[in-house]
Order: sequence, then C-alpha cells, then structure tokens
Amino acid sequence: MKNLNELNFSAGPGALPQSVLDQVQQSIIALPETGMSVLGMSHRSAWFLSVLEEAEANVRELLGIDDEFHVLFLQGGATQQFSMIPITLLRGSGLEAEYLQTGYWGQKAVAEAKKEGKVKVLWSGEDAGYHRLPDDEELTFSKDAAYFHYVSNETVEGLQFHRVLGHDSVPRVCDMSSDFLSRPIEANRFSIIYAHAQKNIGPAGVTVVLIKKSVLDSAREQGNLPSFLDYRNQVSAHSNYNTPPVFAIYVTLLVTRWIKDEVGGLKNMEAINRKKAELLYQAIDGSDGFYTGWARQEDRSLMNVAFNLATQELEQSFLQAAGEAGFSGLDGHRSLGGVRASIYNGLTISAAEQLVDFMSSFQQAHR
Ligand SMILES: *Cc1c(COP(=O)(O)O)cnc(C)c1O
Repeated sequence: MKNLNELNFSAGPGALPQSVLDQVQQSIIALPETGMSVLGMSHRSAWFLSVLEEAEANVRELLGIDDEFHVLFLQGGATQQFSMIPITLLRGSGLEAEYLQTGYWGQKAVAEAKKEGKVKVLWSGEDAGYHRLPDDEELTFSKDAAYFHYVSNETVEGLQFHRVLGHDSVPRVCDMSSDFLSRPIEANRFSIIYAHAQKNIGPAGVTVVLIKKSVLDSAREQGNLPSFLDYRNQVSAHSNYNTPPVFAIYVTLLVTRWIKDEVGGLKNMEAINRKKAELLYQAIDGSDGFYTGWARQEDRSLMNVAFNLATQELEQSFLQAAGEAGFSGLDGHRSLGGVRASIYNGLTISAAEQLVDFMSSFQQAHR
C-alpha cells in the first residue's frame, strides 16, 4: 500500500515527522542504544531514565523554563487533567475557580471542575455557537480566584488565543493540548501548562504537565486522594510512579529532538506552522465564498483550520474526493461537521500546498 502519512490532516492522533517515524520503526526491532526493542524496555532501566531526563531537558530548553517548574509525563490524557487540577487547587479551598468556555474542550474542562468546587464561567461562546473568542473588554478577572483556566487552542472549532489572558497574580492554568511546542510562549507566566502528546508532539498515551513548584507547595493536601491522582507522588517518583508509557515517552523525546535539531527551535516551528495556516486561509478567503472559514478572522487557529462548503452534500463529496486523492482526517469533529484540516508540527508545508491545490481543483469542478 502507498505511504499516505504525508497527507494526514487528522486532528488527533496527528501526523508525525517522517524522520521520527523512521527512527520509531527501527526502535521497534532494536534501539540503537540498547540493541533491544523499545517495547520490551524496562521502565527501571538506565536507558529509560535517560529518556525521561532528556525529554524533560528538551521541554525545558525549548520553552525556556528553569527549576521553578516540575516537568511531568503522566497518563490519563488531557481529560484526566480536567479533574486533577481542580482536585488539587479547588477542592476544599473555599475559593472560586474562573474558567473560559470557548469551545468543545473548554466546556469539558468546566464540567469536571464543577464537581470539585465553585466555578465561575467568565465568558462562554456556547450560545453563539463557538465561532469566536472573547475580546479583552468582555473579560473581568477576579484577583482572588483559586486559579484561572483556559484552553489556548480549541481544537474542534479551530479557535486560538494569540495572547496570554488573566492576571499575573492569579495562578494561570492552560490546556495547550493542541498547540504545545508549536510556537514560543511565555511559559513563566503560567502556573500549570498541560498537553497530551497526540496532537503535536507524539503518539497517544502520555501527557506533559508543567507545574510550578510554588503552586504545588501551597496546594492543600487532599488526604484521601487516590495516590495516582496526587501530583506530589508523580513528582517524587520522577514520572515513574507506576509503569509509565515507555514507548509514547520515547517517541515524544524523538519529536522534541526533531524540533530542536532539525527544525531549529520554536521560532522556526512557528514560522513553518504559520506558513501552512496562511496557505489554507488564503485558499478559503480567495474562494469567493465557495469555502467559508468557521472562526472569526482574528481568532483563527494555526493548528486546526475548520471550514464549510455551501451544503452538507457538497461537504460530503469534498471529503469523499479528498479521501480518494489520498488525504485523510479532514472530516470535521463529530459535534460540528464540516471540514477541518489539522496542520500540526509534523505536517509538511508541501502537504498544505497539495491540499490547497486539491481545494482549487475541487472548486473548479463544482462551481
Ligand atoms: C484532544 C484534546 C483534549 C482531550 O485529550 P485526551 O488526551 O483525549 O484526554 C483536551 N483538550 C484539548 C484542547 C484537546 O485538543
């Protein structure tokens, strides 16, 4: 069968760089360092400890963060963080946590936090169908919230913040699952940043959590918490509390190496991601309304380009023809329909160009 990885526009798990896939293929049979399959490597081996160490160092280097953060590699996905965060910072605090409900994932995070304490939704885009993000004038942050939570990139709707929100004096917590390591960020202004790997930086199975030491130190102990859900246990075990997902962490390491050594850091990564997004948004804007973007222009995501065609039938024939041409993963999220091109780190500029060409010929044939 033809290798169709290059044209994988899936929203997650997403495309991985070919050079990483080549190394992964070799590692399944025998790792260069150990001569053994990565799938049979002990999580207590010196090799794996060095994998964890290097992965952590790479994340620190790429984001420019130092020892004030713990860097954890956890299981349970971003979904588990929706609970672990309020369990740690909200439960029993008597305070209110502030959330933005900016889309499908923001909504999920709010629902979980409400189980642990008082939650104030500062702004919700639900009634207006999640086509845009809030402007600064629409937001009033409290100075004594337990913390403030938002999603930097709403993966389903293709909405992305291009600024940091909230007060610097309130712990700022951000779900960066779908844009982590896709651009430089002011990481030091956040108290917790979390992102599972399967969108931008690896396969499913591992979630990177950066948590400021000061925030964890001042959090209440939750006496009867399952040990696994207590960040403190994960910290003291150095992300090796129980058997961690060795393979997923190894692949994530390879992706961080790729960003550092082949791409040349997050500035370059952002330039590439911006180029792909520009190509696609230009194709949409230049289509005379044949394609219409989902998101308001200033909130457009550099990671997920969601758009519609005039009718559902036309969207279906677009998706079918795209599939026949070798493109995959272009269906919109099941909650939204339409078309969504996810252009994560691993997707090449050439792939975006090929999609633009395809969109243009489809339009020619159907106008
Ligand atoms: C995909 C996604 C999630 C869900 O992640 P899981 O690892 O499946 O739990 C959460 N937040 C955002 C922004 C996402 O894109």
